[in-house]
Amino acid sequence: MTHESPQQAPGANRVETFGCRLNAYESEVIRGHLDAAGKSGTIVVNTCAVTSEAERQARQSIRRLARENPGAEIVVTGCAAQIDPARYAAIDGVTRVVGNEEKMQAGTWSDTAPPAIHVTDIMEVRETAAHLVSEFDGRARAFVQVQQGCDHRCTFCIIPYGRGNSRSVPIGAIVEQVRALAAGGYREIVLTGVDVTSFGGDLPGRPSLGQMMRRLLALVPELERLRLSSVDPVEIDEDLFRLIADEPRLMPHLHLSLQAGDDMVLKRMKRRHLRDDVFRLVERVRALRPGTAFGADVIAGFPTESDAMFENTAALLTDLGIQHLHVFPYSPRPGTPAARMPQVPGDIRKARAARLRDIGAANLESWTAGLVGRDDRVLIEVDGAGRGESFAPIVLEAGPAVAAGTVVPVTLLGVEGGRLIGRPWIRAAA
Ligand code: SF4
Repeated sequence: MTHESPQQAPGANRVETFGCRLNAYESEVIRGHLDAAGKSGTIVVNTCAVTSEAERQARQSIRRLARENPGAEIVVTGCAAQIDPARYAAIDGVTRVVGNEEKMQAGTWSDTAPPAIHVTDIMEVRETAAHLVSEFDGRARAFVQVQQGCDHRCTFCIIPYGRGNSRSVPIGAIVEQVRALAAGGYREIVLTGVDVTSFGGDLPGRPSLGQMMRRLLALVPELERLRLSSVDPVEIDEDLFRLIADEPRLMPHLHLSLQAGDDMVLKRMKRRHLRDDVFRLVERVRALRPGTAFGADVIAGFPTESDAMFENTAALLTDLGIQHLHVFPYSPRPGTPAARMPQVPGDIRKARAARLRDIGAANLESWTAGLVGRDDRVLIEVDGAGRGESFAPIVLEAGPAVAAGTVVPVTLLGVEGGRLIGRPWIRAAA
């Protein structure tokens, strides 16, 4: 869970972003609407509800912003506001609360007499409009929304109640957005959504995610690097497998919405995959595209998780050498079925999360060590550092500065402080 708090010129609008890449994308849309509405000094907090910690941090930020900006217009939006608008409207200093659908509408920000709470039933929303974003504040890669909401109901998850049911962005709009960003200089695009593998189910002809991506890459030849955000391990379509195998512009890096590695826990989470499915998927992808790296979201201490069940998760992560691990200690979300199950004590959740993070760190360390001597292409993010094609952390060997957003071909010389040292093939001018 990230929190973005951009530096501010006096009188400028400010958008604080919590949570996922989809929220980061939407914050850019809101920033555009604020500018178009001629707003100044408006503060927007785009919240996340995925864990109680995310909500606590958002409320803390709202109170701090209200203290530091007396009299400013403070608007709270995002999943936490969508799910419990009254709670956020009651915080001192909050001017109004806006829902997840309403935050994307220009009229919401140009309204001169808006209601204190402007939140409609997100489950009623059937379509997701596309919004053209031209810039991602201070970012080297751009996020493009292709899908919104989720039709699944995993027992621990609050997201569908904040984002509604699944709906896809039309392919034409995705192509237009990616073309605009590539023309604006973005060399890497990350396709994002809530449940991207369900892309297309609501569109005419039900195009799959893989079909959409193949058309996108064909229609935007100038796009250098395409990356996928999180995918469901058992919902990858055959077109996407073919792309993984034969499309060099699709980055060899898959982030799995794994959640656990024990079948009983997965059943109680109402996930669609079992342990063996994950082994089969990783083995198949590594055969199709050797060198592919994997990331995964994993929950530690899900209700009823025994020591033996936990060990199954730890063993899966170790056996598969999952490199980019995001670990969350289970966080009970009010209104979800898992919150009513027998809970694992908090200290055990934390200890298990720490153990999984150690496994992730060890996997990452041995993987990066194995990359020394190879070549890669690094997208520079800041201060000569960035990510390779399989998302390896790389920093350029000392030399002239290279602009953020540049893609630099390198040879990997060694590892320092957990990052690979890359020697550029050619010294790029700043
Ligand atoms: S797939 Fe499950 S975890 Fe993911 S957003 Fe949907 S309900 Fe939540």
